[in-house]
Amino acid sequence: MVKEEQIEAIVREVLRRIDREDIKLNEDKHQLGVFDKMEDAIEAAKDAFEKFSNMTLEDRERFISEIRKATLENARVLAEMGVKETGMGKVEHKVLKHQLVAKKTPGTEDLKTQAWSGDKGLTLVEMAPFGVIGAITPSTNPSETIICNSIGMIAAGNAVVFSPHPGAKRVSNFAVDMINRAIIRAGGPENLVVSIKEPSINTTNAMIKHPDVKLLVATGGPEIVKIVLSSGKKAIGAGAGNPPVVVDETADIKKAAKDIIDGCTFDNNLPCIAEKEVIAVEKIYRDLLDEILKQGVYKLNALQISKLENLVLMDGKLNKKLVGKDAKVILDQIGINVSDDIRCIICETDEDHPFVMEELMMPILPIVKAKNIDDAIRIAVKAEKNNRHTAHIHSKNIDNITRYAKAINTTILVKNAPSYAGIGFGGEGFTTFTIAGPTGEGLTSAQTFTRMRRCVLADGLRII
Ligand code: NAD
Repeated sequence: MVKEEQIEAIVREVLRRIDREDIKLNEDKHQLGVFDKMEDAIEAAKDAFEKFSNMTLEDRERFISEIRKATLENARVLAEMGVKETGMGKVEHKVLKHQLVAKKTPGTEDLKTQAWSGDKGLTLVEMAPFGVIGAITPSTNPSETIICNSIGMIAAGNAVVFSPHPGAKRVSNFAVDMINRAIIRAGGPENLVVSIKEPSINTTNAMIKHPDVKLLVATGGPEIVKIVLSSGKKAIGAGAGNPPVVVDETADIKKAAKDIIDGCTFDNNLPCIAEKEVIAVEKIYRDLLDEILKQGVYKLNALQISKLENLVLMDGKLNKKLVGKDAKVILDQIGINVSDDIRCIICETDEDHPFVMEELMMPILPIVKAKNIDDAIRIAVKAEKNNRHTAHIHSKNIDNITRYAKAINTTILVKNAPSYAGIGFGGEGFTTFTIAGPTGEGLTSAQTFTRMRRCVLADGLRII
């Protein structure tokens, strides 16, 4: 028999959902979870966390599944908005990135309980939530990171307050609103995911210092990683990369050339894992270059390289206006007109050239000649700059791959594939847009956002 109170509760819930349904996804209308003040956003997330704490794993999974659905439905809108607002990247690739996040970010299945059973009873270690997490997100993958972090953090039982990049606040807050609506549709609390209308360095700092924020997760460049690591709180830092790709004489050169240009030009080189410089051994250098030249690229001469250097690294500082721009747009600024199908700019340089040593995040790919595999490994290690982020190799020689892997010591190493295989796109494994090299969590997922709690029952519940 269903009790009267239960019927009333069901009716209330149905009315609540009908009421919410007519608030259409619209960035000009009131956005759910988006606050004027950081303090209010954190307070709301704290309230939501308390409600969420009484819910089940099944509830979490239902909210996540609705977020996945909303992300797939809105993948193009988010991609178009992201490109329009930031002026960076490619719509088609951003659509794929959102689809990847929706399909391959782990949910609650990622949480594992450990158990010890013996003469003295049963001990469990459970992955518990932190509470309210403060997450700082980049301009390069803005909504992708917000959705990816939200799925993982909610799966782990947390609420999250975002401090999005000011240059990507519209698309970031659109994603926050979309996530809130999805959670509410699935019967969850409001404000499990919050953000603020006008994010800035000040609001980020206020979030970092707030006593109710128990864990910090920063996805961005070295500056913000350093800031969260100096906060006195538990912090996860996902910082900059400068991934080299080594090609040796055993590689399938045709495939290597295609994979390298496909990876390097994906979303105009914005992903932190994308190929940023090629180091090819002398024996196949010419063959590789010939194959690369068949991939829709434009190769610069020495004078043009120097012109481009002055444009891209003005007084040694990265010209941010060119980050994530099309090759054609960048070339146009040094007086070179090319057709729309040119997707990458190729430069033959020496190993110390700034294009090799700086993380440009543009479809500009320097190629360096190495004497042999040892020399190539040495150059790649120098270019990776101990970021411990990502590296790539095209080789069929297991000894070479192993030596490279040991020397480069990165969080991700992709062999014989485009870089994006490293985050589960055309490669096995789950995806993430927060790769924590500096603090060692690696590719983050729900379990990264948990704290371990031990529960001991002495002299009982061992059933054998
Ligand atoms: P960014 O460092 O400019 O910004 C990242 C975030 O940090 C933004 O929200 C920004 O507002 C905040 N921030 C930056 N400086 C700050 C300061 N002084 N005080 C307070 N907040 C500050 O990065 P971006 O240009 O948006 O993103 C590109 C960088 O992020 C690249 O270096 C890229 O390699 C890196 N990245 C790393 C990962 C990863 O998973 N490791 C993922 C994406 C991007």
